[in-house]
Amino acid sequence: MADLAGGEVRRADLSVSEGRIGGAGVTEGAERIDVSGCVVVPGNACAHHHLYSALARGMPGPAEPPRNFIEILERVWWKLDVALDHDTIRLSAVMASVAAARAGTTALVDHHASPRAIDGSLDTVAEGIQDAGVRGVVCYETSDRHGRAGAQAGIAENARFLRQGGRPLVRGMAGGHASFTLGPATLEALVGTARDLGAPLHIHVAEDEHDQQDSVERYGHRVVHRLASAGALEEGDLVAHGVRLYASEVQTLVASGAWLAHNPRSNMNNGVGLPPVSRMGERVALGSDGIDGDMFAEVRACYLRARERSIEITPTWASRRLACGADVVGSLFGEPALGTLEPGAPGDLVVLDYDSPTPMTAANAAGHLVFGLNASHVRDVMVAGRWVVRSRRHELVDEAELAARCREAAPKLWARM
Ligand SMILES: [Zn+2]
Repeated sequence: MADLAGGEVRRADLSVSEGRIGGAGVTEGAERIDVSGCVVVPGNACAHHHLYSALARGMPGPAEPPRNFIEILERVWWKLDVALDHDTIRLSAVMASVAAARAGTTALVDHHASPRAIDGSLDTVAEGIQDAGVRGVVCYETSDRHGRAGAQAGIAENARFLRQGGRPLVRGMAGGHASFTLGPATLEALVGTARDLGAPLHIHVAEDEHDQQDSVERYGHRVVHRLASAGALEEGDLVAHGVRLYASEVQTLVASGAWLAHNPRSNMNNGVGLPPVSRMGERVALGSDGIDGDMFAEVRACYLRARERSIEITPTWASRRLACGADVVGSLFGEPALGTLEPGAPGDLVVLDYDSPTPMTAANAAGHLVFGLNASHVRDVMVAGRWVVRSRRHELVDEAELAARCREAAPKLWARM
């Protein structure tokens, strides 16, 4: 058993009953799984994902290559999201969630967009997450990109899902795209809905300089200050990226008690820069921003990219960023022990086939995480006490059949763009 964020590493039996971690003893008559030569860790969480992008893998680039972040949105992602229907939303969600589970990620925080299929889309995403057996948090990214009606439909979809509740492993947030696509009326309505329903907000913040320029030109304030004065930055809210922030914005963000989802691989892919993450306190979690669900790859990238900037960055700092994702999800599920193997914690765990070639202790567990572990070590995955991956195979979904369906659907989706 190992806490890779620098806690305990010990040799022990571990029991799970009724969906929760039990004590170190083994109950008479219980099913026993041999994990000798393995390391058992809490499941990873991805604090910011876009499951809808799953079918974009290998997609041909736009005829005119994008020259900046806004053109990446306009020529790639805003063409993909309008082409989505309920079938491709469901397929994307299942595929991305199964892949996440196979990589040892047991919880996903999704940020969904499908402007031509808004109503009911969060149910479709939730069903895809449920099919894969993982834990999820969903929201619809409200924006003014498709006029007032589109914005209202986005807010309504968040509200509908939040009011409905009632799914054991899926929760909701109130989603907004980003400051530069949220005018004053839409932002006010979104914040009002979120607060009325007691739901935290999930919104992109300053992913690129464009978001800041727009906010300064139109509202006379930088993004974090604009959101804070609109009541959109409170304890428990989740902002993604935070790449282009002034020190005063970092201060406001840290003081707010909001979570920041840092997405290092996506930031590198979009060439937007490195946020001042080492100065953003302890509420910095890791997200993939839709790249995939592999948080072992994300934490390694997080460490290396930050370390390139500052040699003071340590594996322990990076491992805490990974562990923070479970804190975000745990707060939404009312499960503060999520992400631990403490007795009473939800039974979300991963068995890693990692026969370490060097000693593994509490002091160096983060070093093993950053330099040794990867998704290929994931053997078995349990979520809420149920095995979803056993011996490297997904237990609930036929992966070959799913891949075949995706290969058929993806080119049709690309053709609609
Ligand atoms: Zn994102």
